[in-house]
Amino acid sequence: MVAATTGVHGGSSSAGHARSDVEEILDALGTHRDREVLVHADRRWTAGEVADTVHRLAHTLDGRVRPGTIVALLAGNTPEVLMARWAVNLLGAGATQPHDGLSAAAQARIVDDVDADLVLTQSPHAVDVLERARPVEARALVPDLLAAAADAPATPIHGRTHAGDVATIRHTGGTTGHPKGITYTFGHHARAATIHRTLSRLAAESARLLVATPIAHAGGGLADRILAGGGTVVLQDRFDAGDFLAAVERERITHTWLLPPLMYRLLDHPALDRTDLSSLRTVIYGGAPANARRMAEAHRRIGPVFTQFYGQTEAGGISVLTPAEHDRPDLLATVGRVVPSTEIAIIDAGGSPAGTGECGELWVRTGTEMDGYWKQPELTAGTIVDGWVRTGDVARLDASGYLHLVDRVKDMVVVVGGHVYTAELEDTLMEHPGVRQAAVFGAPDGDGTEAVHATVVPGSPAPSADDLAGLVAQRAGDMYVPRAIRFVEELPLTGIGKTDKKRLRAELTG
Ligand code: AMP
Repeated sequence: MVAATTGVHGGSSSAGHARSDVEEILDALGTHRDREVLVHADRRWTAGEVADTVHRLAHTLDGRVRPGTIVALLAGNTPEVLMARWAVNLLGAGATQPHDGLSAAAQARIVDDVDADLVLTQSPHAVDVLERARPVEARALVPDLLAAAADAPATPIHGRTHAGDVATIRHTGGTTGHPKGITYTFGHHARAATIHRTLSRLAAESARLLVATPIAHAGGGLADRILAGGGTVVLQDRFDAGDFLAAVERERITHTWLLPPLMYRLLDHPALDRTDLSSLRTVIYGGAPANARRMAEAHRRIGPVFTQFYGQTEAGGISVLTPAEHDRPDLLATVGRVVPSTEIAIIDAGGSPAGTGECGELWVRTGTEMDGYWKQPELTAGTIVDGWVRTGDVARLDASGYLHLVDRVKDMVVVVGGHVYTAELEDTLMEHPGVRQAAVFGAPDGDGTEAVHATVVPGSPAPSADDLAGLVAQRAGDMYVPRAIRFVEELPLTGIGKTDKKRLRAELTG
């Protein structure tokens, strides 16, 4: 699908110019050139510096970067890389930035898969990645590119973006098999920006956003929106609970985005109660199931600043639980109400619409779904059917119109007598006050079936495995009792901050 509608194989689509996010950001930067807009470590950039640098980079790359081609960025959360991405997009080319936390082999597969015309690097791992990838003739170090750009003019370059050309390819995972490249065109960016403007109150000039998760994931999209709204973005290389809290206080952060496992690390950090978090206005969280008890704790200790967002890179935005709804503990177990621009259908195992309160796979129509998986038309056709995206999430809608997620279809564990929803079982384990975090997953069970396993981060006093097995048996029944419960100090996280269940499974199976 993507290959047919875009200039994937060289050459640009003939569709008309689409005003891009970058042009919106550059316009906003042009309004007050002296204000601070980007902060990273001890560097601070004004709007004027950023706008000029983007144009200088675009002049320097002009001719080497053509509309309809793809540039790979091997780098972490730096202002230079954001600016390089904007310059690439301004010239009409697409950008992909594999998560810096992926192995060199996985990043190399992504560089190969997108047929990158140019690779820009600013990561210590980039040499390893390029050694493993197919030879790429055109490559440049971002610092060298910036040095060359210093002599280029800062005169504005008019955007060369075409609606049908690829703007962004985002890879989820990518550790095995063919990497799944979720592709958005410039036309998609324009549509998403319009929907975003009507739905969100993020675009405030006084907003100061802290991004401590990879800019290659949701944090980067939020950074773009905040900058287009006239706000400031503070970047951290990676999430560290202590550094995060210190930055909120020092930088008077108003907005941030967190995945629930990262939120729990903040709640369990000794500095939380002595940190001044009074500047925070909006903490958006999502990307993985959030536990109601821990979110009630966050609301009580940090304040009425939380908005839960449920969405998917493939599908776009699906539902929201507002700050006011966080006052109702019963609603914290839900992912809120479906946003007005999204339609949903819950389809049961037999392919029919599920009734109120019944579980099934969630299908959604958002208007901002991806344009397709990069070079995988069959996978795309199986995921987007008649404009509906199959989310792969198991959900139910209650009688009050609140959406509940119970699991990923792929994570559900089929056991004798039924199936176990891992996310639900995690919540059951976390009902025990001595459990800080829980991860439940299926692992092969010798006889060809799967058994349920749990890994738990205990609080104090710590429960025993028998205590937890007893709780599960009482609440959910013997069928749900995990085969084994392990205790660990910290759950492993993926590069973007989700619990890494693949790794937990691998540790178990060797
Ligand atoms: P990603 O494409 O990385 O953003 O991951 C999307 C997936 O994360 C969804 O399909 C859900 O399984 C999960 N997810 C996202 N937001 C939430 C949320 N608020 N609560 C529970 N799971 C979520």
